[in-house]
Amino acid sequence: MNLSDLQQFCGSGDDYPDLAEPFSHEGQTYATDGALLIRVPRMAEVSKPCPKLLLSHLPGLLGENYDGQWIAIPVLPAPSTLTCPNCNGSGKVYPCPECEGERSVKYVGKTADWGIECPLCKGYGHVDDGETAMECGNCQGSGCKETNLLANKKVGEVRVENRLLRKIATLPDVELFAPRKSGVNEVFFRFTGGVGVVMVLREYIDTDEG
Ligand SMILES: [Zn+2]
Ligand SMILES: [Zn+2]
Repeated sequence: MNLSDLQQFCGSGDDYPDLAEPFSHEGQTYATDGALLIRVPRMAEVSKPCPKLLLSHLPGLLGENYDGQWIAIPVLPAPSTLTCPNCNGSGKVYPCPECEGERSVKYVGKTADWGIECPLCKGYGHVDDGETAMECGNCQGSGCKETNLLANKKVGEVRVENRLLRKIATLPDVELFAPRKSGVNEVFFRFTGGVGVVMVLREYIDTDEG
C-alpha cells in the first residue's frame, strides 16, 4: 500500500478538514473519513500528527474486542446511481464569479447589511462554464451519485453500508470480523498490510438488501 492508496480512505475535507489527509501516530499511519478507518505500518512520508478529535478514540478502536468470526466480504450489488444533479454528470463545477459560490451577494446599507440571491447564478453557486473548474463536491468528481446510501449487508449480527463495504473490498485479501451479537458499534477487519474498522449502520429500512 502506498500513499495514494491510503489517500482513498481519507475524507473529502468538507465535513472534517482534519481527516482530509493520512496521519501518523506511534509507529502507525492511519487514514479515515469518519466512517471507515485503516491502519498500516508507519509511512515515513506521513508526518501529520493524529487530529485531536481522534486521539482519545484510537486506543481500543482497532482490535478483535468482541465475540465474532472471520468472514470474507459479502458479494455486493453494483451501486444504483443517477447523474449528479449538481454538475450534470461532468464531475466539474465552475464557481460563480459574482458570488464566488456563496449563492448570495451582500449589500451594505445605511442601517444594515443584507444578502440577496446572487443575480448571476440565481442562487445556485455555480455557472455553466468559466476559467477555473473545480471538482464537484456532490459526487467527488465522478459525475454520478449513489441513490441508495443506506443499502447495506448483514455482517454477522450487524449491518454495514454497501458503499463502505465496497471501499473495504478494494483492500488485498481482506476479511471482516463478523460480530456474533448485535450491539457492536464498529466492525474490525484485516487485510494484507494492515487492519481497519468500519462503523455499523444503526438504523436501516427493512426492505434493504439482506
Ligand atoms: Zn452567484
Ligand atoms: Zn457532481
